[in-house]
Amino acid sequence: MKTAVVTGGASGIGRAIADRLRADGCHVAVLDLNPGDDDFSHAADVSDRDQVEAALTRIRAQLGPVSILVNAAGLEGYARFKKLPFEEWNRVINVNLNGTFHCIQATIPDMLEAGWGRIVNISSSSAHSGQPFMSHYVAAKSAVNGLTKSLALELGPSGITVNAVPPGFIDTPMLRKAEADNKLGGTIDEHIQRTPVRRVGRPEDIAAACAFLVSEEAGYVNGQILGVNGGRNT
Ligand code: NAP
Repeated sequence: MKTAVVTGGASGIGRAIADRLRADGCHVAVLDLNPGDDDFSHAADVSDRDQVEAALTRIRAQLGPVSILVNAAGLEGYARFKKLPFEEWNRVINVNLNGTFHCIQATIPDMLEAGWGRIVNISSSSAHSGQPFMSHYVAAKSAVNGLTKSLALELGPSGITVNAVPPGFIDTPMLRKAEADNKLGGTIDEHIQRTPVRRVGRPEDIAAACAFLVSEEAGYVNGQILGVNGGRNT
């Protein structure tokens, strides 16, 4: 059995990915701010390298070396760029981009040692088109896509694939909060009308793409940005 680490695995998309990989036969450990109380869920702020390393030490002691990493921890931010405080810019970059950096750098020694690994980064469809009032979030998620492509080239020769899944509108606590705060630029129903498959995405839609990308049979899929968005690239 392979050991997978899913960040942000206590909620929404990350939780669905953790459930799916468990169902597919992996040992799954979760890293999250408020991870719940099962033995394989660990509290860590992904933007804090010491917390990430401490959680990974516990995970390796429980489940052995990590061969699959899915970076799903993330947070959104909304602000007019003219008034965006640098501290807020940094907060969003720190979690979405630097958190991805820390988790990848802290887990790849295991994958390099094994000569096999799978990394999937959850970015965002907003990186495709941009999004007003979300410049920091879109900058971070765009950088995650760039990081994905570069690491695919760098780590591919070592048997490690690196891909990204940018979700469209997925029904999670993050999306519902954005709707409640009037940050979505319309209701979820209005967004559904602009989505070719005419429904909001489910966390399980993202989990299915991740399950494929981390599988043995996806070994020739590397450096790809696999949009899961109902056909709406925004
Ligand atoms: P969610 O339900 O809010 O889940 C995100 C999880 O990440 C939460 O458990 C959250 O913990 C955790 N988290 C936040 N900051 C963290 C940190 N510093 N360290 C560790 N864990 C942290 O959101 P989601 O919709 O499932 O989002 C998952 C990923 O998909 C995110 O990267 C998001 O940007 C991306 N995404 C989502 C959508 C969408 O439509 N839902 C669209 C595009 C991209 P707390 O709840 O305790 O803060």
